[in-house]
Amino acid sequence: MKLLVIGIDALMPELVFNNLEDYPVLKKLVISGISGEYDGYVYGYGSHDNWTSLYTGLSPKEHQIIKGIYQPSGKLPRLYDYSSTETIWKILNENGYKVGMWKGLVTAPPEPIDGYMVSGELAFDEHFEDPEIAIDGHMLCEKDQHLIDLFEGEFPKRPTPKSPDQFGYTWEELFNNPQLVNNLLDENYFEEGYQYLKDMLDYSLLNIRKVNEKEKVDLFWFYNGIFDYLGHFTMHDFNRTQLKKAIKLVDDFVGEMLNIFQPENVIVLSDHGQKSFIDHFPNCDIELQKESFGLADQCLFLGDNILMQARTGGFLTSLHSLKGTMILNGENFKQGKLKGMRNLDVYPLILEMFDCIIPKNRKGLIHPVLNKEHLKNPEQQYKLHKPKVNEKVLIVQTCEVNVFNGYINDFYNENRFSNIFIFGKEKYRSVFLANQQVSGFYDMDQPLEKSVFDKVLVPYVNAKTKELLFTNIK
Ligand SMILES: [Zn+2]
Repeated sequence: MKLLVIGIDALMPELVFNNLEDYPVLKKLVISGISGEYDGYVYGYGSHDNWTSLYTGLSPKEHQIIKGIYQPSGKLPRLYDYSSTETIWKILNENGYKVGMWKGLVTAPPEPIDGYMVSGELAFDEHFEDPEIAIDGHMLCEKDQHLIDLFEGEFPKRPTPKSPDQFGYTWEELFNNPQLVNNLLDENYFEEGYQYLKDMLDYSLLNIRKVNEKEKVDLFWFYNGIFDYLGHFTMHDFNRTQLKKAIKLVDDFVGEMLNIFQPENVIVLSDHGQKSFIDHFPNCDIELQKESFGLADQCLFLGDNILMQARTGGFLTSLHSLKGTMILNGENFKQGKLKGMRNLDVYPLILEMFDCIIPKNRKGLIHPVLNKEHLKNPEQQYKLHKPKVNEKVLIVQTCEVNVFNGYINDFYNENRFSNIFIFGKEKYRSVFLANQQVSGFYDMDQPLEKSVFDKVLVPYVNAKTKELLFTNIK
């Protein structure tokens, strides 16, 4: 098989790359391949948005799945919302390659492809219950129904993180005295989530093995979202005990998948990372944390930690963050360190690996990671587009910090070769510097040497059209 893709939602690069000694399979892939962190869509963009961009090479604004909602319908996204775009499986099929899709996010209801598509999403809380796409089990289109007969084992049941009443408290009591939480949550909080991930990976392996014995494909794409679920409810623990154990499960899983498929190439990736709430506000007092956090009303502020009331009743402790994990290994890849890669670059990379022509109007670029002399799509090469030096852009803070982070995000997504600096109120310095899209900060109340920057931009939102505009005042 040419390529195995293993997608682990929210797998954090710092936890993987800083603890490689504990993950022998990933370590081997890192040492003999090319790897690093890469950029996903965050600040107003969710997992559905990111995975659809990976499948289509289109930005969330282009495929219109934003914050996990297909904007024209106002509903959770379906495969048919974007299946008319040139999805990666469609192009590979047109070029004679078979594709196996396994539980990809936003691939329900499944469509018939050359190969097979096993879909059906996990409903992580009642909010996501939607029988057309979410089930505890599998969805296959009619053509692939025969594969169901091969399936064995019991589909694992989703656990819900414990809520205060299971500890004998109400949320009201906790909001009145947030320090009580310190007595409730330890590193084992939501260990049921760890067990759920283990059961699901075991169950997946059992059935992937059987399906692969029956039907061979050229690209197999696996996805699982439980790591993201576990992360959201365990990052109150600064040691990341559950998550480190969970990456060990992922490591074993990747090893088993390599045994099953013996692929020529493998890509292990996540769509973004995760950071605890508190890590977004380093060195800030509680008042500043509350003022800078858009979701403060639903949170318990402990000073050294922030916890949020989840819809399911449990304790949420983290948000998605910019940097996802990317590990590339195999015959087609060089060795080394990955730099400057973004979500949209994955689609052209995979198409180039298979010698397929990349559709017009895709903005992603092919990074110099392939062992290939003559590219099928030479005009999409990263080196042709990347300037020698990135431009330096100063953006003037014009509103509250949580809203302003959204403006920065917009600019960042559209201007990948700009280094962003913020001209803002000094008290927000550490909050802005915790934003991985920001390269530096300047105090608004100090004199400024404008000549250092290529542009000085003032953002403003047109109240009628909601359009965000940047005026260059340099
Ligand atoms: Zn995600």
